[in-house]
Amino acid sequence: MSRWQYAIVAISMCCLLIFSTEEISIAKNPTQTQFDPRQWTELPGDRKVDNLKSIDITFPYATTENFVKTKLYACPRCFLRTDVARAVQKVHQQLQQQGYGGLRIFDCYRPHSIQQKMWNIKPDQRYVGNPAKGSDHNRGTAVDLTILDRHGEPLDLGTPFDEFSSKAHHTYLELSPQVLKNRSLLKKTMASAGFHHIDTEWWHYAWNGNKPTVGNWLWDCT
Ligand SMILES: [Zn+2]
Repeated sequence: MSRWQYAIVAISMCCLLIFSTEEISIAKNPTQTQFDPRQWTELPGDRKVDNLKSIDITFPYATTENFVKTKLYACPRCFLRTDVARAVQKVHQQLQQQGYGGLRIFDCYRPHSIQQKMWNIKPDQRYVGNPAKGSDHNRGTAVDLTILDRHGEPLDLGTPFDEFSSKAHHTYLELSPQVLKNRSLLKKTMASAGFHHIDTEWWHYAWNGNKPTVGNWLWDCT
């Protein structure tokens, strides 16, 4: 082997080692199994505040109308890390100030055990975070959402939530000018509040800040 080939092998092994260490880190480190109210905030938040009332919490995973065709949550409740929840509230308020109805949220914090169930059905990292690493939803730092118009109807974003096809990708541009405009509005508004997007899902936004521990606690529905 040439010196270059040795170098490539060495770099590959190094990357493999880093990747493997990350993969097993969840298995070794205990996940957060208890709800800690100091670290989490539930949306829509303070229901006494009028303009937060209308954050629409519509969770397909609390019904059987989702890609796993199974009810994964006993009831829909949106928990996020406190900084993240505040940023989402800010986006909601900004949209309302622009004349929209605000946000509809499809998913927030997702317990690690539920992530595993999803992965068992769809082990495709383009659409479902690998539970071996833990997803941003498990950390309470990702949110799936769309925008409602002033009548409370969702804007046309080109596909339904969780349509795992190229049409849901940000790079897919064969869409009407209105759909592209709606996607751009969501992306720009979320980016201005501290979130980044992934290419494969127009509805998914993750927090730019730190990555807290993976959570594996379940909310109650009483
Ligand atoms: Zn998501």
